[in-house]
Amino acid sequence: MEQKLTPLELARQTLIKLSKIQSPPTPENYRRVYEEISGTKPSKQSTILNTTLEKVLQEKGQNNPQYTSIARKIATLVERQDASNLETQLRTLFQQDANTEDTVKWGALLRYLLKQLDVNHSGLTLSRKKDGINHVILHFGNDSAQLGQKIQALITSWGDGQAGIETPTIEQTAISNTATTPSAPLAKIHATESISSNNDNKKLVATAWRDMLIRTINLVVAPQFAEIPSALGRIQALISRAEAAETFEEVDKLNEALKSTLLRAEMQNDSQHRMQEALIQILRLLVSSMGELTIEDKWLHGQLAIVQEIISKPLNIDAVYNAESSLKELIFKQSNIKPGLLAAKETLRSMVSTFVSRLADITVSTGSYQSKIQTYHDQINATENIAELSNILESLVGDISAMNEDAKQNHVALQETQKKVEFAEKQIVELTVKLDYISEVAHEDFLTGALNRRGMDEALTREFDRADRHNTALSLAMLDIDHFKKINDTLGHSTGDKALAHLAKVVKGILRSTDVLARYGGEEFVILLPGSKQDDAVEVISGLQRELTKNFFLHNNERVLITFSAGVAERVTGENADSILPRADAALYLAKQSGRNRVIGAESSAPKVQ
Ligand code: GH3
Ligand code: MG
Ligand code: MG
Repeated sequence: MEQKLTPLELARQTLIKLSKIQSPPTPENYRRVYEEISGTKPSKQSTILNTTLEKVLQEKGQNNPQYTSIARKIATLVERQDASNLETQLRTLFQQDANTEDTVKWGALLRYLLKQLDVNHSGLTLSRKKDGINHVILHFGNDSAQLGQKIQALITSWGDGQAGIETPTIEQTAISNTATTPSAPLAKIHATESISSNNDNKKLVATAWRDMLIRTINLVVAPQFAEIPSALGRIQALISRAEAAETFEEVDKLNEALKSTLLRAEMQNDSQHRMQEALIQILRLLVSSMGELTIEDKWLHGQLAIVQEIISKPLNIDAVYNAESSLKELIFKQSNIKPGLLAAKETLRSMVSTFVSRLADITVSTGSYQSKIQTYHDQINATENIAELSNILESLVGDISAMNEDAKQNHVALQETQKKVEFAEKQIVELTVKLDYISEVAHEDFLTGALNRRGMDEALTREFDRADRHNTALSLAMLDIDHFKKINDTLGHSTGDKALAHLAKVVKGILRSTDVLARYGGEEFVILLPGSKQDDAVEVISGLQRELTKNFFLHNNERVLITFSAGVAERVTGENADSILPRADAALYLAKQSGRNRVIGAESSAPKVQ
């Protein structure tokens, strides 16, 4: 049993303990030690608190060596009952803990890490990045603060995802000293912030550019396609894709689509320009013919009706070309055939009047001769006198020869009139031939509405130049109707003509507004497909064949199937018409050889023309 100490002994023991734990002999320290030794206050609570605190700090110290030394210091201070230093040390501990929490923003760091794993870094594969992360975890997995720092440093070492940035080795990165890595907690946070704010800036700039581009397409490109709903639809789709594009691949694909849209826009522009020129030409023709037109109102009305027809609809180059050709035809007929016809009419009128007057002459003279002959007859019957009879006969012969002379003159006059009529007829035939020439010098073929050879040559030059300027593809197809001679032979030439017009109509219905259809000759056509590669062009022409099997040509309400063979060639940069036309023709020949109703792509391209 413990012996109770005397107050003196207690005082002595208290002083010994104070000096042993090196606590200053302040009244408070003295009282605390005194109470402990005398047992007046239980020391058990502080012992339990002390050991529990020490245990927790030791545990924490396993993950972070800093805690181990703090735990040791706290144990000593508790033992010394050094309350003020203990308080300071405990505050340091909480400060340390708060700093550790601030250092690693794990949520943000892991999100950033995942994102950076997906970003392309020059010279780094995904598996190399994963190796680096494993390496860091292996070395710093037990220290979350260090782990955060090292992961951060590793990501920073991968660079900003652009080409040309040197990538340090995993070892250099993971075990690098803190000189290459911001060591202070705040500095680390700033590094993360500056990377993300850099990325944010780039994103803002990209968005501003995108919006500018979309506004340009909306205000400048789209209005050019206002009359072509399908093209307008494609542009709207392009804009929606631009608004939604997030990845580089998507933007790259958009670039291609934009390129072909701009090409079409230029062609559209071009076609509008040509349309304006053609319109001005029409007006010139109209004005120049006005003076003559007033002679007969019928002509004036015919021409004005054409102009009214054009301006009542949205302008379209085909309609304008058509109108120009029709006006040329009308004016030509007016200026040539009309005087010819008037002359012919005049000749006929004068012929008839001559004939009638001659007839009247004949009738009159015949009547007078008849009465004379009757008189002679009566005189002859009444006379007995030969001499008198001889006189009568002499007068009679005289009158008869005068009658012959009149008849001869009438005959000559009639012959002359007939000659004039024949001449007028010949003139009309010549004028009709001239009309054919006029249709030749126009752009279009009157029968089919396709471009004629002159129009085709112009289109080839124009589209070839454009393809070279934009460095875009262009394909040319040559079509020839199969067994067309048979259609002519069995159904007649004029039905053959209608079949050609039908084919041209179906083709025009399928082609894009920027494609060009020309009649190469007879039953052969050329189609120009700007912007199309050979395989795409073959697909389009095969589509035409399918359309012809659905959209029949009708003859006397009976369906007549028209098929064609075709050869398709893609133009090589700089290639001219003399080279590509024979290549398409050779492919057409192969299509005919292999059974007709086929489309064949040209084998090889011609060498580049310098
Ligand atoms: P293939 O399948 O080998 O092409 O046979 P095909 O009968 O179509 O070929 P061919 O070249 O022997 O005959 C073409 C015919 O087209 C001959 C010609 O009378 C006719 N043709 C050419 N131009 C016209 C035209 O403007 N109108 C009409 N009706 N026929 C035309
Ligand atoms: Mg032919
Ligand atoms: Mg043919």
